[in-house]
Amino acid sequence: MPTIEQADADYQKWSHRLRPARFALLGGEPLLNPTILQHIKMARQHWDSDLMLVTNGFFLHRFPELPKVLVETNCRLEVSQHGTHDDYVKRFREIKHLVWRWREQFPGVRIKIRQSHRGWMRQYKVANGKPMPFNSRPNAAFKVCMQKICTQLYEGKLWKCPALAYFAKLEFKLRLQDLPQWQLFRDYQACSESATDEELRTFIETESIPQCGLCPSKRTAFSHPNPLQRSALQ
Ligand code: SF4
Repeated sequence: MPTIEQADADYQKWSHRLRPARFALLGGEPLLNPTILQHIKMARQHWDSDLMLVTNGFFLHRFPELPKVLVETNCRLEVSQHGTHDDYVKRFREIKHLVWRWREQFPGVRIKIRQSHRGWMRQYKVANGKPMPFNSRPNAAFKVCMQKICTQLYEGKLWKCPALAYFAKLEFKLRLQDLPQWQLFRDYQACSESATDEELRTFIETESIPQCGLCPSKRTAFSHPNPLQRSALQ
């Protein structure tokens, strides 16, 4: 998540040009950011969208002021469940209890628990421990894509989807630089502040792009064996 100053500058670039129906604050995990309450207020100052904060819930207890800020900013909290492993479910139950208490104590607070793991799909293949792209027809991949409505505002630019916005991070972390199969993702150009209105309109209205061909054209469910543990690629 950017600093408050960066977020303010990024929002100023775009909030007079876009009116998204929904605006979500996500992570990584947003509650690892100690200034998250300011981020929520800042987002509300700039966007009149349906505002939401999406979290795994593990750090809710660090922010006793959060429900008050949610009510004041008319921001919905979405607590995302990531699996059904016994140890995880036990920890998640504590989170649910806190959510239930907040609902009782703070009238008007909107908190939804969503079972995100049910909608997860495999985004790439794995070969020799490295993620490898699919070879799909872009239109077919776009048709089943769950990220296609998740435009990202990242580093001051608009990105078509999370897969493209964070590819450089994934590439660095997993050392994919030598894999030419990902070149289309490397070549992707996000929409920058200097885009004309016509270019921005084209960015918003375009459906599939060549990069979509690296994504799956069939949904294959993916589940994490235990979200409490980091694991190798599967
Ligand atoms: S590149 Fe296209 S198909 Fe792949 S995640 Fe992004 S929008 Fe979806």
